Amino acid sequence: MRRCEVHILQAGHCRHPEAATLIRGGLGPVTFPNLTGLILHPSEGAVLFDTGYDPAFLTATEPFPERLYRWLTPPRFGPEEPVRQQLSRYGLSPKDVRWVILSHFHGDHIAGLGGFPDARIVCARAGLRAATAGGPWRALRGGVLQSLIPADLDSRVTFFEDLPPVPLPTACRPFAEGADLFGDGALLAVPLPGHCPGHWGLVARAETDALHFLVADAAWSSRAIRENRPPPALTTTLLGATQPYRETLQRLHEMTRGASELIVTPAHCAERAADLAQGQATE
Ligand SMILES: [Zn+2]
Repeated sequence: MRRCEVHILQAGHCRHPEAATLIRGGLGPVTFPNLTGLILHPSEGAVLFDTGYDPAFLTATEPFPERLYRWLTPPRFGPEEPVRQQLSRYGLSPKDVRWVILSHFHGDHIAGLGGFPDARIVCARAGLRAATAGGPWRALRGGVLQSLIPADLDSRVTFFEDLPPVPLPTACRPFAEGADLFGDGALLAVPLPGHCPGHWGLVARAETDALHFLVADAAWSSRAIRENRPPPALTTTLLGATQPYRETLQRLHEMTRGASELIVTPAHCAERAADLAQGQATE
């Protein structure tokens, strides 16, 4: 695989009961960071994997029924947390981001999309179709805030489903195949079904040789993968499909069992955010 610089950025967080995300989890609120990937590709430049929270989320959840989303999972920010404000640390501005890859269309993953009007967007056709079908109530029930989807998306989009399938590195087994984003094997998108329609992750090889697998919401935490412990069926049935979700989690569990060179990042994992805080998340 061609190597990239891989950084994990935290773009806000929210707090809600652990029990919604982990079977037999605690009822008290815990912190769920919102982690995104900033990948510097040797020829394609800056690539984002998801955008995380952005103040645009607050605008999108001002009216009803969208306000219900904010009540359920209120986003919180530090002074510099939206991704577009963090880019300067890497000598970049939002205009330098040429590609935004979307794992799925939930509001907490696409909220910052409006900050990158010139970027190409890569996502699942199935995800976009589900996100734009029906009115705001149906979308909201599926975790989607339709006003966050750019009006010109059709002219900027590439679909994972149309990209050439290539074998994944053996460390990713039992996941066998990914979609090759740039035709050079550097960034491979991997279907991770169950969380919602059209949910995909991303595999990238860092310059340090570390192999990253950004699994978005296929698991809420590294602990859930370690213990093969899914959310209650109520959560997974509401957002997606419980059986495929549990099959995907089982495969992530198998993939990481024993010694593994993989660095797996679930988008809302507090353990990974703690690594980040210690400066271990840049590979
Ligand atoms: Zn989600």
